[in-house]
Amino acid sequence: MSTNGKYPHIDPLDWDTIQPHVDALLDADIDSEAVSGWLQRWSDLNAVLQEAGARIYRAVTENTADEAAEQRFNRFVEVIMPKASVAEQALKQKLLAVVDGAPGDDTALLMQRFRTEVDIFREENVAIESKLDLLGNQYNKIAGGMTVQWQGEEITIPRAQSLLEEPDRDSRQLVWQQMMDCFLTQRGALNDLYLEMLPLRRELAANAGFASYRDLRWLQLSRFDYTPADCFTFHDAIEAEVVPVASQIYRDLQSKLGVDSLRPWDVYADPHGQPLRPFSDVADLETGAQRIFDQVDPQLGNHFRAMRDGYLDLASRANKAPGGYCSGFPVSGHPYIFMNAVGTHDNLTTLLHEGGHAFHFMESQRQPLIWNQDGPMEFCEVASMSMELLSAPYLARDKGGFYSDADARRAYADQLRKTVLFFPYMAVVDAFQHWVYAEAPEAVTAADMDRRWRELTDRFMPDVNWDGLQNEQETGWHRKGHIFEAPFYYIEYGLAQLGALQVWRNALNDQTQSVAAYRSALALGYTRSLPQLFASAGTRFAFDRQIVGQLMALIQEQLAVLDA
Ligand SMILES: [Zn+2]
Repeated sequence: MSTNGKYPHIDPLDWDTIQPHVDALLDADIDSEAVSGWLQRWSDLNAVLQEAGARIYRAVTENTADEAAEQRFNRFVEVIMPKASVAEQALKQKLLAVVDGAPGDDTALLMQRFRTEVDIFREENVAIESKLDLLGNQYNKIAGGMTVQWQGEEITIPRAQSLLEEPDRDSRQLVWQQMMDCFLTQRGALNDLYLEMLPLRRELAANAGFASYRDLRWLQLSRFDYTPADCFTFHDAIEAEVVPVASQIYRDLQSKLGVDSLRPWDVYADPHGQPLRPFSDVADLETGAQRIFDQVDPQLGNHFRAMRDGYLDLASRANKAPGGYCSGFPVSGHPYIFMNAVGTHDNLTTLLHEGGHAFHFMESQRQPLIWNQDGPMEFCEVASMSMELLSAPYLARDKGGFYSDADARRAYADQLRKTVLFFPYMAVVDAFQHWVYAEAPEAVTAADMDRRWRELTDRFMPDVNWDGLQNEQETGWHRKGHIFEAPFYYIEYGLAQLGALQVWRNALNDQTQSVAAYRSALALGYTRSLPQLFASAGTRFAFDRQIVGQLMALIQEQLAVLDA
């Protein structure tokens, strides 16, 4: 089956088969009349490359030891993407030379994005970006290759992570220490890797005429609706409104565990003694998730049903890249979910989360231009995080889910607690990067970064006792892949969580209406600004003390009911 749509003769690893189509677009006569058709042709060509890139990335993450897949990935990154990037630039320039304003309401934001991208594009940055992509993949290889010895078995990091829920404290400590040792063994390599990335990123900024990489990155991420100052407002709101609630959650955990202080291997522990194990193999995970999605919304359930035919890779195994993601194949019209499931409740949450991304992909397929599908990253995460919360009422077996009534309430409450605990960590990851790129001196060292990470964790997460574990504490930034691979891409999760909590708040009053608003916002794709998308979902794009405080109060209220 060809996945090339209207361009059946393209070989996505052979640029010579692509360039003629670019040339045809560049040579075309476009005036304001013909521009819509021309944009669509370009969009269709772009979709072919995006589909190819998604398939190649899928192969390399499904098996990190597949050398042929890695060669394809490297060729795509090193040869095809730079050429595509140059071609895109030329096409944007041609378009912007002809079009003043925007051809239709649904392209106004797209034109603003294009204009920004043209402004910040520098040909000399293309090679640097592709070098950074390869360095990012190196991080994946280092972190993905890590294994821990556990009871005579070699287990992956995601599997080891799941053991941190176990009731036996000594076991938790042992497995936690082994995981930390994996990263500490790579401490020098990871420091070197990051310190190799920093000057390259500064060079990108300097080439584009920016004083700091943050300024460039802001525009690269199309952040038109909020500023770095807003991020600091959000950090302060988290410190004032979330940290006290988080402290209470940690105090409760500490007393339930019966320990005199909360050590880093305790924070994931299950105080109920028996961690939730919703499924033993991924087939059960798949069918259970299906039943839950059907309850949230029949049409969303149908979307998931279609994915079960070859578009899910859920089980953890050796040589699989860590983490989970959802990508989309825009030509064949399928989303795809990748994750490392080992049987935990967290795995279920991940599938529900990635399901939300997949639904966003499918709902926004009605946008004819590829750039208008999906949406701004901040809203993509509203799509996914809302799905976690909208699913929470259906976790009980008699409602379609996996658990007894008591376990379902416990899972729901834990979900709300994790939502609270996420904000302070998010603030650490975000504040760390503001400091690295906009405040720290150019001669910043790994030791400086370690110190800054420690200060930030002390500020936002003061309840964890790291005594005697300075190395483990201060290298926390090594364990966050986004810091290496996707700089500044993290506040999105915090902003989106505020949106998702509002979707959930609305659903507590009227699920049908809230889900309908949610779906209509997803269908808008990337045609509207963040404030407009949030409004369409029945929520407000805000991140000050007031909204954060209101949502924390609602969570505490619901926790009191669920814990009763
Ligand atoms: Zn996500």
